[in-house]
Amino acid sequence: MYSIHDIRNDFPILSREVYGHPLVYLDNGATTQKPRCVVEAMVDEYYNVNANVHRGVHFLSQRATDLHEASRETVRAFVNARSTSEILFTRGTTESINLLAFTFGEAFIHEGDEILISTMEHHSNIVPWQMMCQRKGAVLKVIPMTDEGELLMDAYEALLTERTRLVCCTHVSNVLGTVNPVKEIIRIAHQHDIPVLIDGAQSVPHMPVDVQDLDCDFFAFSGHKVYGPTGVGVLYGKEAWLDRLPPYQGGGEMIKNVTFEHTTYNDLPYKFEAGTPDYVATHALATALDYVSALGMDNIFRHEQQLTRYAVEQLRTIDGMTIFGHTRDTADAVISFLVRKDGHYIHHLDLGTLLDRLGIAVRTGHHCAEPLMHRLGIEGTVRASFGLYNTTAEVDALVAGIRRVVQMF
Ligand code: PMP
Repeated sequence: MYSIHDIRNDFPILSREVYGHPLVYLDNGATTQKPRCVVEAMVDEYYNVNANVHRGVHFLSQRATDLHEASRETVRAFVNARSTSEILFTRGTTESINLLAFTFGEAFIHEGDEILISTMEHHSNIVPWQMMCQRKGAVLKVIPMTDEGELLMDAYEALLTERTRLVCCTHVSNVLGTVNPVKEIIRIAHQHDIPVLIDGAQSVPHMPVDVQDLDCDFFAFSGHKVYGPTGVGVLYGKEAWLDRLPPYQGGGEMIKNVTFEHTTYNDLPYKFEAGTPDYVATHALATALDYVSALGMDNIFRHEQQLTRYAVEQLRTIDGMTIFGHTRDTADAVISFLVRKDGHYIHHLDLGTLLDRLGIAVRTGHHCAEPLMHRLGIEGTVRASFGLYNTTAEVDALVAGIRRVVQMF
C-alpha cells in the first residue's frame, strides 16, 4: 500500500516550517530529501563499523568491505546489470560522465570523429564531451528537438555517420520532463555499431530502469537524487566496453602490482575506482535503493505520474501560464514554467523568491541546460519537480502561491 502519510513520516525534514509556513519541497530534481533509514545507516556505520575497505584483515575492515560490496550488488540488482563488475562507484552522474569521456576518448577517439548528444542535455552531459573533443580534435553534434521538447528522430538517424563513435542522451530532461525514447535511440545506434550512454540522473528516481532491457552500453546516475546521500553515484558499463577502456585515475585500489617501471591494473570494477571509496555513502545509497524498492518503483512512478498530470492541469488554469514541454501524457515529474503578466514574463527569479517566502521550494534559472534555454528562446524558468512524498495538497499550495505572487506584480 502506498501510504503517503507513512511515507512522509519517514522524512523528518518534511515536517519543518520555512518562514512560518509548512515546507513544500518541490526541488527534487536538484536533490531529494533523505528517509530516516538512510541517515541512520550512515550514523550506524560511522559509530559501529568504520574502517577502510578492501585492505584490512581485521574485523571492522572486513565488515565495512562486506557492506560496500553488498551495496554494489544492491545497485546491480536495482538496474538489473548482468554483473557487479559492471557497476562502478563514482561521486555522481557528473563524475560518471567525465570518467567515460576521458577513458573513451583515450581509447577510441581520433581527429574528425563525432560524438552525438541532444539539445536537452544537462551541462554535465555536454561539457565533458566538449573537453574531450577539444583534446582529440573530434566534433560534437547535436540532435535537434521540436518546440514542444521532443527529439527529432529522423534528424537523429540522419546525424549518424561513419565517424560517429558514441551517442550520449539523457533519459529524462531535467527541465522539460520529456522522457526520451531511449530504447529506440539505442536500437538505431546499435544498427550502426555505435555505443550509447544514457544519463539516468532524472529517470532512476522516478521509474523502473533495466539496463539490459534498454541495452544501453553505459548508464550514469546520482545517489542524492534517489533519496541516497550526496557524493556517490554510479556508472554502469557493459563489461565488454569497460574491459577495453583504460583507467581514469591512478592510485590505490585500482592496481594489481606496482613497480617504479610498470603497473598492472586491477580487475573490473576496481580498475576505475582509485583511492578510498566513500564506503559509508555506498552503504547508505543501497539503503535508499532498498527503501524505494520496498515501496515499489512502479508505485512511485504511478503516484508521481498522477501528481504531475494533476499539477499540469492546475497550473494551466493560471492566467498567462506557459508550461514548457508536457505535450504528452508520458512526461516525467518535472515541470518548467513561466507566467506572463502585462505582455511579458515575470522574471523566474522574482517568482521563485516570492514562492520561497511562502515556504515553497522551487528552482529557478537555466537548470544547467543553457543550450536548451537558447533553443527555447528564454533565459530561465521556474521548475517544480516532484518526489515520491509529494501530495496534491502541495500542488494546490504551489498553484495558490503562484496566483498570490502574480497578483503582486
Ligand atoms: N544530468 C541530469 C539530467 C541532471 O538532472 C543532473 C543534476 N541536475 C546531472 C546530470 C548532474 O548530476 P550530479 O550533479 O549529481 O552529478
